[in-house]
Amino acid sequence: MIEHDIALAQKLVAIPSVNPRLGDDPAIIGEHRLADFLSNYLNNLGFAVDRHEMTPGRPNLVASYGPQMPRKTFLFEAHLDTQGIHNMTVPPFAGILSNEGRLYGRGACDMKGPMASALSALEPDRLARLAEAGVRVLFIGAIGEETGNIGATQLAGLGIGADEAIVLEPTDLNIVHAHKGVAWFEVECFGVAVHGSNPGLGINAIEGAAAWIAEMKSALDALPLEHPSLGKPTLNIGRIRGGSSINIVPERCVLEVDRRMVPGEKAEEILDHARAIAERLVKHGLLRAASIESIESGAPFETGVDSSLIRRLTEACRDEKTEPRVEGASWYSDAGPLSKTCGQIAVFGPGSIRQAHTADEYISVQELQTGTRILRRLLDRLAGEGT
Ligand SMILES: [Zn+2]
Repeated sequence: MIEHDIALAQKLVAIPSVNPRLGDDPAIIGEHRLADFLSNYLNNLGFAVDRHEMTPGRPNLVASYGPQMPRKTFLFEAHLDTQGIHNMTVPPFAGILSNEGRLYGRGACDMKGPMASALSALEPDRLARLAEAGVRVLFIGAIGEETGNIGATQLAGLGIGADEAIVLEPTDLNIVHAHKGVAWFEVECFGVAVHGSNPGLGINAIEGAAAWIAEMKSALDALPLEHPSLGKPTLNIGRIRGGSSINIVPERCVLEVDRRMVPGEKAEEILDHARAIAERLVKHGLLRAASIESIESGAPFETGVDSSLIRRLTEACRDEKTEPRVEGASWYSDAGPLSKTCGQIAVFGPGSIRQAHTADEYISVQELQTGTRILRRLLDRLAGEGT
């Protein structure tokens, strides 16, 4: 017999939900089919289900169960979208179980496997016990995580959050308590074009941009910021465009900048600082003008390692004889936007991030089931605290 969580993971994999920006076949793109399935599934468990569709055709799902005036709110968040299926070497939507105990398919580990674990932990008797203990449980399905965390950003904008949240992602059953934030921006530098034989008469936009980079780097090096699990903030100039000819002093140079932030840093402050450096260069005649615009940004997140959520989740792992690492992650997730509306967040789930986005994506069946048992223990401990 196939256990409930495995059968459910197979079912979820069989419902295509490719991020619309990562595919073009209408039969497989979009999150709506999965949102429909989850609406039904959660409805049948007694959840009140709301849809928030700010992007037409792409519904976010917010389901809740339990008291209207709760003692505590607890949230599972799962993104609904997956990567595309280009170049996959296994059938993407067949949900094949192999003899080595693997479930194959697009989304098997990122993140329909972890989603199946969480849904399987939400059994009627456990939900009733949580409600009795004054805990309101939310299950959120968010669109567009793979291309800019759109859904989580929309929902956080509506104020949807909880006291404690588990953002489901494949972490090998380790507990991610922090990750960096992202500030992507464009720096447009203007000079004065003259003939290259007489550069002293013009202002070289490329050289001005280089001066800006040097000042940004030395300012970053001087920052006394070093996070115990995330290290230092970083700066990467990912793209540069400028100049028109070898013998002309360039009039314009554009930089695309990827600045990763540690907790406590804010994108707006980083952009303000970048502008102040550019203004100084203009004042000193190294640039004629400059403009700096945000491309995209996402907040960092951090939950204290001694917080109630991290402690309870660690204990739940130990109940199931696993010893989780509590660590910072190098990648980004929906925990960033949700940090605005959730008191404590852990990113957690079965499956390996190394298997996410791959041509033969799979999740270990055994790990998925351990994940389910850990999440049950977690909810049981939460219910037990109220009585
Ligand atoms: Zn994911």
